[in-house]
Amino acid sequence: LPALAVHDLSKVYGNGFQALKGVSFEVQQGDFFALLGPNGAGKSTTLGILSGLVQKSTGSASVMGFDVNDQAFGARLNLGVVPQEFNFNQFEKVLDIVVTQAGYFGMTRDQALPEAERLLKSLDLWEKRDQPSRMLSGGMKRRLMIARALVHGPKVLILDEPTAGVDIELRRSMWEFLRELNAAGTTIILTTHYLEEAEQLCRNIAIINKGEIVQLTSVRQLLAQM
Ligand code: ADP
Ligand code: ADP
Repeated sequence: LPALAVHDLSKVYGNGFQALKGVSFEVQQGDFFALLGPNGAGKSTTLGILSGLVQKSTGSASVMGFDVNDQAFGARLNLGVVPQEFNFNQFEKVLDIVVTQAGYFGMTRDQALPEAERLLKSLDLWEKRDQPSRMLSGGMKRRLMIARALVHGPKVLILDEPTAGVDIELRRSMWEFLRELNAAGTTIILTTHYLEEAEQLCRNIAIINKGEIVQLTSVRQLLAQM
């Protein structure tokens, strides 16, 4: 069973623009997968459909075998989503943001607290737990998005341009965190327009351009070609 599968996925937005033109790929369990392409290629649209945030036009998408439309809750339960933009309640405290998220998946506060504490500690945010999110730096907000995405213990983590606009030091520490998470068994897919990020982190890669997959390969093979 693949962790993620999209088959012949198309998306036409309300204004008539076709952002995806028959995209197909699978991400196997345990993989670290990059969707690499320039701005406007369709990366966010693809992840949006997998996350249940964007309605597909045709084709299919599933997470751990759960169809994102017909079995949306099963799909969502298996998925952690780190969006591109911060979308926190500005006034909610860091710890509460993470615990509230767990509540959407049926976890009580008592069930969520140990996991929230573990995640906030490993992302170096525990000291900030009682601060409202608006007090955090940009780098802290990025880490908070990761903690929030992981609190319900999803098998698959999706990150949309996780290190865009992030300084080199934080980028390195986020890479390290993601490597360890993957080594411990979480399947990861991220979008990036940095080849270097895909090379450093990922095993397999789909290159997307103008709504079409132009190459599906392993990072090793891609490097051997160059
Ligand atoms: P859908 O077709 O999935 O319902 P819409 O076409 O309604 O999506 O778009 C949602 C919102 O995004 C609208 O307000 C739309 O104007 C806006 N939007 C339009 N073009 C773009 C774009 N290129 N990038 C991001 N958002 C856009
Ligand atoms: P990427 O993540 O690779 O930069 P996106 O998936 O965000 O690409 O966008 C793919 C294309 O679809 C772009 O041309 C973008 O302008 C367009 N697009 C994205 N959202 C909308 C929308 N809501 N309405 C219309 N066009 C959109």
